[in-house]
Amino acid sequence: MFYKQRSDKQSFDKKTANKDNANKDALYDLSQVKSTSKKQLPKVYIQSAVHAAEMQGSAVIFKLIEQLKNLTLHAEFTLVPNCNPFGRTQRAGEYLQGRYDATTGNNWNRFYHYEPSDVVEFVETLTEQQISLIENGSESELVLAFKSFLKYKFGLKLDQDWGVNTAQFLNTTLQEIAVDADIVLDLHTGPASTHHIYSPEFLTQSAHAFNFENIISIPTTFAGALDEASFTPWVYLAELLKQKGITLNYKVNAFTIELGSQENICLTQAQSDSGGILNYLQANNLIDGFVGVTPVEVTTTLLKNYKTLFSKHAGMVEYLAKPGDKVNKGQVIARVLNSLEFDTKHAVVDVTAPESGTIILHYPSAAVQVGTQLFKIAVS
Ligand SMILES: [Zn+2]
Repeated sequence: MFYKQRSDKQSFDKKTANKDNANKDALYDLSQVKSTSKKQLPKVYIQSAVHAAEMQGSAVIFKLIEQLKNLTLHAEFTLVPNCNPFGRTQRAGEYLQGRYDATTGNNWNRFYHYEPSDVVEFVETLTEQQISLIENGSESELVLAFKSFLKYKFGLKLDQDWGVNTAQFLNTTLQEIAVDADIVLDLHTGPASTHHIYSPEFLTQSAHAFNFENIISIPTTFAGALDEASFTPWVYLAELLKQKGITLNYKVNAFTIELGSQENICLTQAQSDSGGILNYLQANNLIDGFVGVTPVEVTTTLLKNYKTLFSKHAGMVEYLAKPGDKVNKGQVIARVLNSLEFDTKHAVVDVTAPESGTIILHYPSAAVQVGTQLFKIAVS
């Protein structure tokens, strides 16, 4: 669904976007909210629920639409509140399958398109005129040309004779919309999780403006997610141009924002979460008139210190440490019950924190196997 801004006042039209006529009522019926302006403004793209069970972002987009109508916008906004409607139809028992395509096991957030050879090809086709424009301090033409080039590559991928898999189709279709944006926010949640942001290293400082307690600082490499697919081509383009003695300053600012736990909607929390996003947008001069937030203490953790604790025991688990809790090395953070040992002293096994840090998330179920990802901890 598109919501299109009617005038300089923030009112929105909406229409259905669709690429797959054979599945128009379910698979690729993308919901979108878009505002436009005649002036060349920066563009903001925000999507939610590509992992279909992670719905809090959709509530946050609802709250953003309510508030954006009453703020001064210095940017165009494209908002996609339910970007994977097909995923929303896939259940395992009472719960949404969520992170994975139930048919293939593919992670819905790992099939965005990025090919380093595309960037090489683009640089090889640059004209003398384009290069001289950048050298004279005007990047905008090159930026638009690269965005068009990337969009052309997405089209080629989607139209290829051998076809693409369902996750590739969904992801690349979303990228065709997101590629125009200068700011890309992909809203997710963890399983049972506290708020945290994945920020590329070069944006970690600016990510503080979101006012969420935990930032995980990630390297600028590609592992298939939308945030990476959005900033990585620009980082590599700048690198290739630098080899030619040309400086490109432009980068797409992209983040993955984890808004608590899956299978959960809280409109009160969504109001507060949207405040963090509006605070970031205002700090970057993309909106005006937002009242601001009460600052929280923000901790930044390098990805290499964001560690997974795998269960060494099978059984039923009681989570003693909750998402957001600070824990000390050696502290008992969970207990695992083993029904085969109820009459022995091995009935309950304590799980301790291997290092001090913040519990970011834990496994959502109380039944675990050996090797289950029990906790993820931002080690301090
Ligand atoms: Zn997710």
